[in-house]
Amino acid sequence: MKKIKRFPTIDGSLGWYETMPIQRTHPVVQVTENRTFDYIVVGAGFTGLSAAGRLAELEPQSSIALVDALMVGQGTSGRNAGFIIDIPHNLDATNADAIADIQVKNLNMFAISRLDHIRKSQGDNVYWHQVGKYLAAHEEKHIKNLDGFAAMLDNINMSYFVMEGSELKNKLGTNYYKKAIFTQGNVLVNPAALAHSISKNLPDNVVVFENSKITGFDWNTKKVFFGQKVLQANKIVLATNSFTEEFQGCKSKLAPIYTYASLTRPLAGKELAHFKNVSPWGVTSAHPAGSTVRFTPDNRILIRNSFDVLPELSSNQQRIQNAKKHHRSSFLKRFPFLSAVPFEHSWGGMLCMTRNHEPVFNECYPGVFAIAAMNGVGIAKGTYLGYYMAEMMVGNKSNNLNFILSSSSPNWIPPEPFKSIGTNMRLSFEQYLAKGEK
Ligand SMILES: Cc1cc2nc3c(=O)[nH]c(=O)nc-3n(C[C@H](O)[C@H](O)[C@H](O)COP(=O)(O)OP(=O)(O)OC[C@H]3O[C@@H](n4cnc5c(N)ncnc54)[C@H](O)[C@@H]3O)c2cc1C
Repeated sequence: MKKIKRFPTIDGSLGWYETMPIQRTHPVVQVTENRTFDYIVVGAGFTGLSAAGRLAELEPQSSIALVDALMVGQGTSGRNAGFIIDIPHNLDATNADAIADIQVKNLNMFAISRLDHIRKSQGDNVYWHQVGKYLAAHEEKHIKNLDGFAAMLDNINMSYFVMEGSELKNKLGTNYYKKAIFTQGNVLVNPAALAHSISKNLPDNVVVFENSKITGFDWNTKKVFFGQKVLQANKIVLATNSFTEEFQGCKSKLAPIYTYASLTRPLAGKELAHFKNVSPWGVTSAHPAGSTVRFTPDNRILIRNSFDVLPELSSNQQRIQNAKKHHRSSFLKRFPFLSAVPFEHSWGGMLCMTRNHEPVFNECYPGVFAIAAMNGVGIAKGTYLGYYMAEMMVGNKSNNLNFILSSSSPNWIPPEPFKSIGTNMRLSFEQYLAKGEK
């Protein structure tokens, strides 16, 4: 039996989870006895939820266990900024491949419609708002990145609006940004609530085990261990994001990078007067190391920025406090008139990156399948990769699956300590360049 040494941790006060607009009504099920299933899916983030859901649809007679060390909505899937992005997240049109970009866009849109269908069928309020998104620049020198993005959109025939000056200020309630490109298809959600809603919607042949951390595994016998208890299956899916190397689901491919977010308390009274006629919005930055910002449907402001390379795959209070200071400064630059508004929640979560931005999607050991490295866009990507992994496992073939297989070859990354040194150097440089976009 191989022992697992690094486990998911909570990493702060999880804003989306704590402020979910839906109440949990079903009990928490943990692994308390030895059981056998046809399939075990490890990781109940968007990827694992999707893989388990599609396997259950394709094989309604099969038994499926979906297991997570945390509660659904507490993992990285419930900690992100809540953008379900329809278009390729690509600022650079140099060497762009329009055919591949269109395929990614179609897969993203497929994922959005599947998620939309699920949350509608549950009737859950997950703060689902198809309000598009702004890719925005504060500094003159970053406006050229908007041009690269516009060129990519032109290549794939996507419409967009260029906004600046008072028009942009009236949309956002801040005059911080000089120029932005607005695209319409992006959806904003409370991601913890959405994950929770999907998990409730899973067919009856899926058992969701929460607060059940896998402490060891044996891939020959397909057993996963939870201390003294064991689950066994014919096939196993690893949807464990940055923890996939821990399960030996891939080697020397993943660069886990911590990033952090803070959410204010709801704005009220005079504070809200600054946002008169402003609808909920989301801004991503014209520089990859800049801040993501949202004005939420419950009138909060979200700021996401700062990076850490933490090989232990866990953050700590000191690092979360450091990130919170950066969030405060970014918040005050954009909303100086809200200086009395505190952050209510600050947390960290892991982006799982690869060098060439391609995900892991393969059978890594006979009967063990791995999906990892969403490279920062995991709500849509995890949903379609999980879906097509299930399709592949039952032998279905399709053009979409062929495309996914042909674009899932992440480049080699050197082992520690070189990985952390290299990633840290690159991130420090990018954060220096981002400056005013932070
Ligand atoms: C602050 C932040 C902002 C982001 N913003 C966005 C955004 O706006 N839009 C977007 O699309 N993406 C965003 N991302 C990225 C996105 O959150 C990830 O790509 C996504 O969560 C990946 O989903 P996943 O299901 O593959 O992995 P995860 O959500 O990480 O799920 C993996 C699960 O495996 C479980 N697990 C691991 N080890 C074990 C074990 N030993 N036993 C049992 N369970 C285990 C974990 O608990 C976890 O729940 C952001 C990420 C962060 C951190």
